[in-house]
Amino acid sequence: MSSKPPISAEKETTKPSNFLRQIIEKDLAEGTYASRHWGGSPGDAAHHAAGPADPARVRLRFPPEPNGYLHVGHAKSICLNFGLARDYGGVCHLRFDDTNPEKEDTEYVSGIIDAVKWLGFGWDNHGETNLYQASDYFDFMYRAAEYLIETGHAYVDEQTADEMRANRGDFGHPGTDSPFRSRTPDENLARFREMQGGKLPDGAAVLRAKIDMASPNINMRDPAIYRIRRAHHHNTGDKWCIYPMYTFAHPIEDALEQITHSICTLEFEDQRPFYDWLLDRLCEGGLIATPHPRQYEFARLNLTYVLTSKRKLAQLVNEKRVSGWDDPRMPTIVGLRRRGYTPEALQLFAERIGVTKSDSWIDYSTLEGALRDTLDPIAPRAMAVLDPVKLVLTNWDAVMGANKLDECSAPVHPHHPELGKRNFKIGKEVWIERTDFEETPPKGFFRLFPGNKVRLKYGHVIECTGCTKDASGQVTEVLATLIPDTKSGTPGSDAVKVKGVITWVGVNDAVQAEVRLYDRLFSAPHPDTSGKDFLEELNPNSLKTVTAYVEPSLAQGKGDDKFQFERHGYFVADRVDHATGRPVFNRVTGLKDSWGK
Ligand code: ATP
Ligand code: MG
Repeated sequence: MSSKPPISAEKETTKPSNFLRQIIEKDLAEGTYASRHWGGSPGDAAHHAAGPADPARVRLRFPPEPNGYLHVGHAKSICLNFGLARDYGGVCHLRFDDTNPEKEDTEYVSGIIDAVKWLGFGWDNHGETNLYQASDYFDFMYRAAEYLIETGHAYVDEQTADEMRANRGDFGHPGTDSPFRSRTPDENLARFREMQGGKLPDGAAVLRAKIDMASPNINMRDPAIYRIRRAHHHNTGDKWCIYPMYTFAHPIEDALEQITHSICTLEFEDQRPFYDWLLDRLCEGGLIATPHPRQYEFARLNLTYVLTSKRKLAQLVNEKRVSGWDDPRMPTIVGLRRRGYTPEALQLFAERIGVTKSDSWIDYSTLEGALRDTLDPIAPRAMAVLDPVKLVLTNWDAVMGANKLDECSAPVHPHHPELGKRNFKIGKEVWIERTDFEETPPKGFFRLFPGNKVRLKYGHVIECTGCTKDASGQVTEVLATLIPDTKSGTPGSDAVKVKGVITWVGVNDAVQAEVRLYDRLFSAPHPDTSGKDFLEELNPNSLKTVTAYVEPSLAQGKGDDKFQFERHGYFVADRVDHATGRPVFNRVTGLKDSWGK
């Protein structure tokens, strides 16, 4: 075992600054948001004006669409938004962005709530529960749309979808005004009310913001803000047959919730001018409180060998390529949890990768490193033999006595004597790793081969004498003799020098366990970027199940308990399948240092 002191996650509490922290610190220093009031719940300008000064110095939000389970990319965003709110005396709202009626499912709502809580964050602040759903703002959004129409900032367009696309122009060419663009506010209002009243079929018209068809930013060429869609909504039922577009809904959601810093991923950078345009118009009309929220973009997380798209993860689940959203190979938060990741590991990971303004790939080893560094100082140690072959100590009966078992013990954690000892027994037969024996040793092999001595960790020194084999040449038993008076921890036990130490469990008291050896789900380092179907990039060997023997101390544990199996890495008792009498462990990750050279 390495003798270096455990690395503690606490060492990293001085958080490195980043551009978002700098923005927030500047806003706080300048009092940008100091004049804000808070009406106790989301609402319009009048609602907030009637409330007291906002007790939260900043407001952020995490706004998932409830259309799947959250993944490691969301974990980055959650740690970022809730973490900034915590660090700056603010509040972070959990908001379900459920304005798109087609895609949501209430199963996902509870999954998201569980994931954010499990990561260690909450939304109860100052006696309020800052848990919101965007569909509660449909009435206000409709009012905002009518306001834009009345002030000449929006019109109903009845071009076909193809005409609209053709008239939008492209990067080098300005767009062409729609023939409907010059309708009067009264005409537009009447037509919009017909849209809302169900007088027009789906797709027959859209409401568009009236901005600039020649803008170099295509998002500013009169973006659509409302569409007709007869769809049942999980919250509002059949009340609406028109629904706001995301680019219109999102800034309004932020504004009603008095968000100060609206943090999103870089794809939305080109939407920022519209975000500001829209909120500036609504401020002019006195509909929303001032100053309005500002949008800031950061690079989304791309993790090597990992796919982070809810839609594609859903496909893996639906096509049964994995056992479910919580398959331990999935990058979902439920999957990572079942794999053995901890909230502390994900928080440390988020801290280490930081936030930047340009896209890049984070190496998967960074995630594993955060796990090791958080588990190493706390995980109880245990021995397990994953590829067992029997070792027979042929002189046991003569030296120790027939049927005699000898008590051995080992620290639960090498750096925490206060955690006590674990006990197990050695007898005539023990399980060892098949790879710890070589009939003809390669150069530099220090473990078992005829004539060589090794120590059974926490036990005795033994000398290998040979092996027995079956008809096919497969080793059935490794044979050795015990060297008397060499038991670990007894006086003079180190008189016999050995170069190799091997792990083992006693045949008499070892417990049989199912161990699931997981590997990366994708073989390609950047899945889904080569133009190939991402399903072809799945790693066919991402799961190997073995029957192992583990120390008796492991029979007691419960699902979610984490261990370091000495020499092998970190393992977790499977939270679904592990049961008394039927231990099931998942490999989280290997040890950093390779063993036994
Ligand atoms: P997906 O494409 O997987 O559905 P999404 O961005 O559509 O992702 P949302 O539910 O809309 O998922 O995202 C909620 C929040 O999580 C957003 O603020 C988004 O910016 C953030 N987020 C999503 N994916 C990542 C990622 N890979 N890295 C960082 N933040 C992310
Ligand atoms: Mg989305």
